[in-house]
Amino acid sequence: MKLTTKILIAIVLGLFVGAVLNIALPDVFKTLNEWVFSPIGDLFIKAIKMIVIPLVFFSIALGASGIANPKKLGRVGGKTVLLYLVTTAIAITIALLLANVIQPGVGVDVSKPDKADVDAAPPVKDTLLNIIPENPVKALAEGEMLQIIFFALAFGAGMALLGEKVNRVREFVEQANEVMMKLVHMLMRVVPYAAFALMVKAIGEAGVELIPKMAMYMVTLLLALVIHAALTYSLFLRFMAKINPLKFFKTMFPAMEVAFTTSSSAATLPVTMQQVEGGLKVPKKIGSFVLPLGATINMDGTAIMQGVAALFIAQLYGIDLTVSQQLLIILTATLASIGTAAVPSAGIVMLTMVFPVVGLPLEGLGIVLGVDRLLDMSRTAINITGDAMVATCVAKTEGADVEVDEKAAEIA
Ligand code: ASP
Repeated sequence: MKLTTKILIAIVLGLFVGAVLNIALPDVFKTLNEWVFSPIGDLFIKAIKMIVIPLVFFSIALGASGIANPKKLGRVGGKTVLLYLVTTAIAITIALLLANVIQPGVGVDVSKPDKADVDAAPPVKDTLLNIIPENPVKALAEGEMLQIIFFALAFGAGMALLGEKVNRVREFVEQANEVMMKLVHMLMRVVPYAAFALMVKAIGEAGVELIPKMAMYMVTLLLALVIHAALTYSLFLRFMAKINPLKFFKTMFPAMEVAFTTSSSAATLPVTMQQVEGGLKVPKKIGSFVLPLGATINMDGTAIMQGVAALFIAQLYGIDLTVSQQLLIILTATLASIGTAAVPSAGIVMLTMVFPVVGLPLEGLGIVLGVDRLLDMSRTAINITGDAMVATCVAKTEGADVEVDEKAAEIA
């Protein structure tokens, strides 16, 4: 059976078992939760936390060592990275606005975490000033995500500037990154069991009232994805690339389907390239640089998920996030989405770095994790569409005649 199917079954079963225990057998739930569901959920979340710090470090250092390459950078590189950053920031802004308006998490009382946990978020100014770690080892040991990212970027830039001289270090970082990805992959195999346990725990503790809230979380997220594609992408396509957005989406549809079914921007890359270079006539020299880079660092859909999830969890736990904290979410989620690997479920792993920055309890992860699979499929489709959109805009501003070649687009 496919992993996705297993996870879906686990979620439905978990909802059902959780609801039954909550309504009919609260005492049985208490015991089972203490001995079975909570421990399984905790172990799983610990395993995610174990992986995330080395993963962030190696993947960002590796990414930076490629981008900072002076030969590759230049004008096209600068333009590409700028567009990637701007569109991602717009994406999270839309996500936060929607989550503030719809308030998917308001109205249920999820058992509050310790007050100390909540107050632990340092003032935004301190977080920003502390972005340069005095001691990178301490930053790694204490899981200071922004500091780790800063150090990883610096380390990657250093590798890039030294070029061939540090081939061995590069190889090490590359392979260490591969090992961490393998661990993520292994962990994903147990997601159905963890999702079941986390779901029973969430519904059993908070009651069936949580179910509509989770549905609202999903709706808010999907809505943000659609709005971002329909509005932001269309505007860029119309005014910067000067092509018909509808035709663009039609051309990209086969790639979006592949992204949806694989949940992986990396796995979709060949199809994305084919549609962009064939169907949209983006020159190869631009497509072959902009698209792989985008598959790695540009994840608007993932950033949207992180924004909505952060607000949803804050609302569930009754934690008020100030405007400056929400701005910090935009910054962190932009960085987190850059560091997210282009494989299934990577985005949810990276969520563990967004939560602590604004003092959200990591237990909240369990609640969004259960329903993440379908959302992962949807956000991956937006991730690759964003890459294609930027490639088209960059090509146009570099003087290429981008246009839709319906025949070439259809062959896919
Ligand atoms: N699956 C996404 C991608 O490959 C990453 C994520 O989990 O958000 O684009």
